[in-house]
Amino acid sequence: MIHIKRKQKILIADDSEMNRSILVDMLEDEYEIMEVENGVEAVAVMEKYGVDLSLLLLDIVMPEMDGFGVLGVMNEHRWIDDIPVIMISAESSPAFIDKAYGMGATDFIVRPFNESVVRRRVVNTILLYAKQKKLMGMVADQIYEKEQSSNMMIDILSHIVEFRNGESGLHVRHVHVLTEMLLERLIQKTDQYGITHTDIPVISMASALHDIGKIAIDEKILNKPGRFTEEEFAIMKTHSAIGADILKDLPLYRDEPLVKCAYEICRWHHERYDGRGYPDGLKGDEIPISAQIVALSDVYDALTSERCYKKALAHEEAIQMILDGKCGIFNPTVLECLTDIADRIPGELEERSTPSLNNRRKIYNVAQEMLRHEELTASERTLQLLEKEREKYSFFAAMSKEIQFEYNVSPSILTLTPWSANKLSTNEIIADPRKNFNVWEILGLDNWEKMSEKLRATSRENPVITHDCKINYQGEERWSRIIAHATWSSEEPYEYQGAIGKVIDIHDTRLRLDVLEQLATHDRMTGLLNHASAKEQITGRMSRHPDGTFALVIFDLDHFKMANDTYGHIFGDQVLQHTAEMLKQSIRGADIAARVGGDEFLLFLEYNQELDPIIERIFHSLAGRYEDFDISISMGVAMTETVGMDYETLFHCADQALYTVKRSGRGHYRFYDDSMDKMLSVISPIDELDGGK
Ligand code: GH3
Ligand code: MG
Repeated sequence: MIHIKRKQKILIADDSEMNRSILVDMLEDEYEIMEVENGVEAVAVMEKYGVDLSLLLLDIVMPEMDGFGVLGVMNEHRWIDDIPVIMISAESSPAFIDKAYGMGATDFIVRPFNESVVRRRVVNTILLYAKQKKLMGMVADQIYEKEQSSNMMIDILSHIVEFRNGESGLHVRHVHVLTEMLLERLIQKTDQYGITHTDIPVISMASALHDIGKIAIDEKILNKPGRFTEEEFAIMKTHSAIGADILKDLPLYRDEPLVKCAYEICRWHHERYDGRGYPDGLKGDEIPISAQIVALSDVYDALTSERCYKKALAHEEAIQMILDGKCGIFNPTVLECLTDIADRIPGELEERSTPSLNNRRKIYNVAQEMLRHEELTASERTLQLLEKEREKYSFFAAMSKEIQFEYNVSPSILTLTPWSANKLSTNEIIADPRKNFNVWEILGLDNWEKMSEKLRATSRENPVITHDCKINYQGEERWSRIIAHATWSSEEPYEYQGAIGKVIDIHDTRLRLDVLEQLATHDRMTGLLNHASAKEQITGRMSRHPDGTFALVIFDLDHFKMANDTYGHIFGDQVLQHTAEMLKQSIRGADIAARVGGDEFLLFLEYNQELDPIIERIFHSLAGRYEDFDISISMGVAMTETVGMDYETLFHCADQALYTVKRSGRGHYRFYDDSMDKMLSVISPIDELDGGK
């Protein structure tokens, strides 16, 4: 057999052609779309297609019949249980939205809408309903299986009766179907008898036993072709009481609802509403409604079937006779039900009398009713989900075509819109993103973790975070800002459940910022840090690592003025740039190097081994030659181990050491010690003027 997967049908009811066409464009690839312009047409389509419709997208303001009118009709016919409705309207007042939900709408989308959100909600709604239908079907299957075996027993039993009766075997089934149809109509009309959908299969099944008492009646009487004598009729009439007695004596099953119901039916299915029936002469609603209905079904089928003593009557004739009271008086409400369903009777008797199968639809209704209790708790949850959806929607609606994502914590799933997944050349759904190679490539595990940390630290009141990082768009790295809105559970204990967010390209702005920052923190000529930012970094480093062992090195070119004077300032600049290059090359990544000003530089480094060889190496790598100019430096070093962790002190001491070197012949380095303070304190003003360095 070839299965052709048919598209699911969506009905769009909206009077604006423009609005319809927007929705059609969005959905026609995946769904079969039907369009109508008003509520009346919508109802007509639903009448025709029924549960074949997977979804109704419904506008509120429409001519002929508005959206609420359509919901009203759907409630009346209970279509609202089978066809989900999403209202789409520009009307966003709470009164409208509440009314729509109150009347059973599954969702409410306010125009103008975001295309991907609408598509997603359409898909979700259809899936949710399909799931529910499947669940209903499963429950129905279980009931069906259980009922099937007892049904079979009853079928066999009633066949025995019919066989003795010389009947076709169809009588019991016809009575069953008619009873079912009348009861269905009755509970639509009134709840005065307290019957629910759940009772219908019980009563109609019990109806199969209505004539069981005939087992005890002599076959000669049962099958007598002509009229009964009075005596024979009296014997015949005992079958109802006998049937009831048989059931009453069933010791084990006496209390079963089915047996109780069968008892009522057996005993009283020949009673009449005016009190002129038998065996007890009950009147009006003293007769259980089950028995009243079966009585009417029994009479109808007896009239329309051929029996050994009579020919079959036509359907219309039989109905007329019953309505005219020619077969006894019946409950007027029950007669109304008969009139209401009269047209459908011949067709349905034919169709639904196939053994057992006809129960399917009924059982489905029972299942639905059984689940209704659960549905109530579900709807509470649904409302919460919808609330969350709305929150997401308003957030998304504010966005344009940017990368959009949704993250769910448990299970850990990252979902991207199709457009975003394409842009990043990755999948739309990424399970466990923390371990996903794609995620590492796109923004790096580090950024993923930082972002998660920020999200976890949000609250329901302040759910929005931003995180700037570089994002890899198929090989091209661009500075981006991730803005995310954390979602929190709506009930206590409040839990962080995930986030929705978008990514904005801030590449150019960020680069401009970078340049500004570079200008503010670096020395333009050498590209080294300037003194202010070096001081900031050094102070930060020391406070983060109070146990670290650091050294501050300050050095100054010897007789640099000569370079300027001999070869000019431009050459002087080149010498400074060359020295900065040498400095950069001789240090490690974590060291901090800066130009303090003029021809003076500093270097801050952490050391774990002996410091002297390190300084020695650096010192020698800096000294040398640039073109014709011999580069010689003087260097002072201060260690946090001896002077403490205060930057000002550290700088002062290194400077003292440098000063000492300048005063003692230049071209070497010295570590700071206290004696230098004493020595410097005796420098004469002449020395200072002489440029004592
Ligand atoms: P000493 O051995 O005592 O250090 O003598 P010095 O000639 O190196 O003199 P000092 O360090 O006191 O002065 C540095 C000179 O460097 C002063 C200034 O003319 C020159 N200078 C400062 N900044 C720049 C610059 O950006 N470019 C150039 N070409 N020269 C500079
Ligand atoms: Mg100098």
